[in-house]
Amino acid sequence: MTSWKKYERFVAELCSEDYQSTNTTVMPNAKIKGCLSKTIRQVDVLIDSRFGDDRNRRIIVDAKKYNRPLNVKDVESFHGMMIDCSSKVGILVCPNGYSAAAKKRAQDFINLKIVSLEELEDIDLDLWDDCLSSHCDKKSKRGLVLWDAPMGIGALSSPVSISCIGKCDVCGDFHVWCWDCGKKFSLSDESEAKCNCGHPWFWLTAIEEDETSSNDHEHSMSVYLLLVTPSDALIADRKPLN
Ligand SMILES: [Zn+2]
Ligand SMILES: [Zn+2]
Repeated sequence: MTSWKKYERFVAELCSEDYQSTNTTVMPNAKIKGCLSKTIRQVDVLIDSRFGDDRNRRIIVDAKKYNRPLNVKDVESFHGMMIDCSSKVGILVCPNGYSAAAKKRAQDFINLKIVSLEELEDIDLDLWDDCLSSHCDKKSKRGLVLWDAPMGIGALSSPVSISCIGKCDVCGDFHVWCWDCGKKFSLSDESEAKCNCGHPWFWLTAIEEDETSSNDHEHSMSVYLLLVTPSDALIADRKPLN
């Protein structure tokens, strides 16, 4: 693995420690369609609302791989990307600091963060699992799965059943890890799967239009991960497509 790839994963892991919660989801290497450019933008880490489209929660993170300090131009081009990704908050991460002018230009809307490359030695990528998706192996570079905090599924089982949800940082596929039986499995877009436990539920992915909380942008689509029970389909996670 190149050290820059490791650096990207390290930044994703830091973000997941800082931002992952019941209401937000953290996606490493996300791809969303820009609202202005109409092209697919690659985002090193996308932090977004977990259950529906709420752009007020959206944060994009760019892990810059420069051997020099960031300058005003870097800040300005990142701000353009934030607008295209309809994100009001952005984090620019760099290993080598930034100029005073860049700091001034960033002002309130961009958070500049220095992550030193020495910290990479402490990162434990063993916490990341290899992607289980059969179509992930692009040029023998299989992705790794960033796991969420464990979640309890309490209403239907006693004792509470625990599962983790994760996303691959190459193909983006959802992964589910059942702590009851230990099974881990991936779900490509628009598929369904379950573990070996015989739970009265299964997991389903579906591409659906978001229920928007505001009308300041065109209608948006996401891949939803749903927990389907005999009586309900609950949103467990989402990957925005724009
Ligand atoms: Zn993958
Ligand atoms: Zn299970």
